[in-house]
Amino acid sequence: MVVVMKPDATDEEIAHVTERVEGVGGEAFVSRGVVRTIIGLVGDIESFHGLNLRTMAGVADVHRISDPFKLVSRQHHRDRSTVWVGADRQVPIGPDTFTFIAGPCAVETPQQTLEAAEMAKAAGATLLRGGAFKPRTSPYAFQGLGVRGLEILADVREVTGLPVVTEVVDARDVSIVVEHADMLQIGTRNMANFGLLQAVGEAGKPVLLKRGMTATIEEWLMAAEYVAQRGNLDVVLCERGIRTFEPSMRNTLDISAVPAVQAISHLPVIIDPSHAAGRKDLVVPLARAGIAVGADGVIVDVHPDPESARCDGPQALLGNDLRALAQACRQLPPVVGREDAAQRIRTVGSAV
Ligand code: PEP
Ligand code: MN
Repeated sequence: MVVVMKPDATDEEIAHVTERVEGVGGEAFVSRGVVRTIIGLVGDIESFHGLNLRTMAGVADVHRISDPFKLVSRQHHRDRSTVWVGADRQVPIGPDTFTFIAGPCAVETPQQTLEAAEMAKAAGATLLRGGAFKPRTSPYAFQGLGVRGLEILADVREVTGLPVVTEVVDARDVSIVVEHADMLQIGTRNMANFGLLQAVGEAGKPVLLKRGMTATIEEWLMAAEYVAQRGNLDVVLCERGIRTFEPSMRNTLDISAVPAVQAISHLPVIIDPSHAAGRKDLVVPLARAGIAVGADGVIVDVHPDPESARCDGPQALLGNDLRALAQACRQLPPVVGREDAAQRIRTVGSAV
């Protein structure tokens, strides 16, 4: 931490700051510049917070040097992490591979879910997404099939072999979702639901943590820290678009967040171009951009009949669009030094 004194700070004010810092067991290193004095603090940062240094006479500003998040930071864990998903932890999401995740926005019927999963698998996806509990903006919109939806996802996993990622919207549902799913998704609307983050942190399954649509990168990583603090470091971050002034698409995929987050956190980062754009014509171009900037995977909506979809039909892929995405996920990752995760599963089998 660095304390910047005002240009007119007196020697007494400077001495007072150093005494308070030393009083809580810290060390204070004073550098006197031509205009200002700055004081470098070494010691326990939490005890410095308790001093309210910013309110002291003569203090202009206080800067943090280390990240406010620890467990998810690269400051303490240089190498980027791989999170393994599935009953045999067979699907990698991390820096060496590119993981393609697809499925329906919402589970509607067994038939629709199976067809969507088969489309996803045929396109090369290695994980199935699908919402059983849907966090809808309108309370009048379809809220998902709930537990019945989880059962359908588990049945479809039996048939296709694809591990399942599904959203949990309420801390009270975590235990039932964990029974059926391989990975728990926290949606954009719940990124800062700290009780829910703690509950999934204790659930013992990997977590897919979407970025809040109005969250800064630091707030997003602090949310990941809540999960990690409960003993679960198997967290995959998902950039799903942020709110901007631009109304042509639902949200703006913050493509720069991918390398920016990877530089400061060891957690894998994937993108969701479907929920970012809300329109299918942008999904493939955004997915290509995500691969180019180094995303560790992509998650997209597919549906066998988007016109009848009960949720997010306009962004669901099928036919030529899905074929174009499949091709991008196969061909582009090797160009940026990655292996298609499907390839990795076939060649090395399970991780454990
Ligand atoms: C979803 O993936 O189904 C979803 C609701 O996404 P988001 O939370 O990003 O809106
Ligand atoms: Mn959706």
